[in-house]
Amino acid sequence: MKNTVLLSFLFFTIAILQSCLNNELHFKNAYVIENVNIIDPLEGIQNNMTVVIKESKIDQLFKADNVKLSPKNTIYDGTNKYLIPGLWDAHIHYAFETSLAKKMNDLFLSHGVTSVRDTGGPIDFVLPFKEHSLQNPKTSPRVKIAGPLIDGKFNVYNGSSSSYPLLSIQNITLSDLQIQVQELIDKKVDFLKAYEMLSPNQFKLLSKMAKENNLKLTGHVPLSMDVITASNLGLNSMEHLRNIELSMSENFDSYLSDRLLALENKGNLSGSKLRSSLHLSQRIKAVSTIDASKQEAVLNVLAENDTWQIPTLELYQTFANKKYKEKTFQSHFSMIPDSIRSKWLKEINSTSTEIDQDILKYTQWSSEMVNKMHKKNIPFMAGTDTPIGYLIPGLSLHEELIQLNNSGFSNLETLKTATLNPAKYFGLEKTLGRIKAGYEADLILLDKNPLESIENTRTIKAVIKGGNYMNRFYLDSLQAN
Ligand SMILES: [Zn+2]
Repeated sequence: MKNTVLLSFLFFTIAILQSCLNNELHFKNAYVIENVNIIDPLEGIQNNMTVVIKESKIDQLFKADNVKLSPKNTIYDGTNKYLIPGLWDAHIHYAFETSLAKKMNDLFLSHGVTSVRDTGGPIDFVLPFKEHSLQNPKTSPRVKIAGPLIDGKFNVYNGSSSSYPLLSIQNITLSDLQIQVQELIDKKVDFLKAYEMLSPNQFKLLSKMAKENNLKLTGHVPLSMDVITASNLGLNSMEHLRNIELSMSENFDSYLSDRLLALENKGNLSGSKLRSSLHLSQRIKAVSTIDASKQEAVLNVLAENDTWQIPTLELYQTFANKKYKEKTFQSHFSMIPDSIRSKWLKEINSTSTEIDQDILKYTQWSSEMVNKMHKKNIPFMAGTDTPIGYLIPGLSLHEELIQLNNSGFSNLETLKTATLNPAKYFGLEKTLGRIKAGYEADLILLDKNPLESIENTRTIKAVIKGGNYMNRFYLDSLQAN
C-alpha cells in the first residue's frame, strides 16, 4: 500500500516537473479563457490576459504572454474579446407579471444579468426565487429580495387591478407595521422597502427596525415627508428619484401641507388614485419651481449620507416617448410567452400615440438630476423595474446603461453601476463585482469593447454564472419562447 502511494507521488512529481520544463501549465478541474482583454470596474482594462476559472471562482490571472498552456486544458479563446463582471439589475419585480416570473431568470441570464434585486412582491411569492437561486447558483441569477412594499393605510399596490397587482402590505397602525415587518425580518429578507403612503411615524418605526437588524432601507420618499428627513432617518437608497422634486421646490411648504390634508383621504379614494392625484397636481409644478438653494441642500444631504440612487431612467424614457409603440421595441416581445405578449400588445394598442409634454419634461429633468447627483458623488445602481413598462427582463438593463451613460457617466462608471456598486450595496464587494483572483466567477465575454461604446455590453459571446460557462448557442435557447 505504502509503495503505491509513494509511486503515485513520484509519478505526480515527475508530471509536474515535466510540465514545468515544457513551461506548460495544466489546470485541473478548471477551464481557461486565453488571451482576453479584461475590464475591472476599478482598475479598468488590462489587455491580453489569461483567466483561470475553477469551480465557482476566478482562480488566477496571468499576462497571456507569460504562460504556456498545456493542450490538456479546457481552453476558450478570448482573442479580441472583452471580459466584464456579470451585471445586476437592481430593480425588478418577479411578482408584477406572475405568469412571466419563471421565464424572467432565463432572460436575465441570457442577457448577462447574473444578479437581481427584487424591489417588491408578496414575501411568499418572491422568497422561493431567492431559495431557488441559493440552491442553483450555476443556473439561476443571484436573487436579493425586499419582500413586499411596506405601505400605509391606503396602500397603492393592493391587487385591485392588473396595473396595481398585490405587491404591498397595508399598515393601518404602528403595531401592524411592527408585526408585519418583524415577519419579513424573520423570513430573512435582504433589505426593506418603504412606500409612499406611510405616515412619518410609521416610516420612523420602519427605519428603526431596519437599523436594528442591519438591513438597508430603500424606497420612495413617503408623500407625508420630505427627502432630507427621510434620508437622515435612514432611507439608504431611493428608487426612481421618487418625490425628490417636491423637496426642492420653492413652494415646498405649501405643497407639503396640501399633501398632508389630501392624505387624510376624506373622499375615500383608493391608494393608487390618491397617490396619482398628488403626483399629478404637484410633480410638474415642483419641477418648474426648483429653488437652487433647496436643491443644493437636498443633494448635499444625499451625498453626505451616501443615499444610493436607482433612477430607472429607461422606464421613464419608455413611458414618456411611448417607445413601446415602436416596431423594434415590440420585436423583442418574441422572447416572452404568447399569452403575455398578446396581453401587452392589447394594452399598448389601447393607449393613444400622443406624447404628454409634462411627462417628457419630467423625464428630461430626471436625466439632468442624475447628472447633478453623479457630480456630487452620490452612489448609483442600474435598475429597470422590469417587467413594468413592458421592459424585457435582462435586455432592458442594457438600455438603462445607455441612459446612465447619456446622463454623464463615463463608460467605466456606467459599468460600475451594474457590477461593483450593487455588490457594495449588499456588502459583497470583497467577493463580487470585480475581475480578480478569488472573486466569484460571474462574468460576461463580449465581442466588442464596452469602453469604446456602452452599447457593446449587448455583444454577448458567453455568460458565466458561478463558474458555469454558457455559450451563445445555449443563451439563444434561453431566449426562445
Ligand atoms: Zn418598482
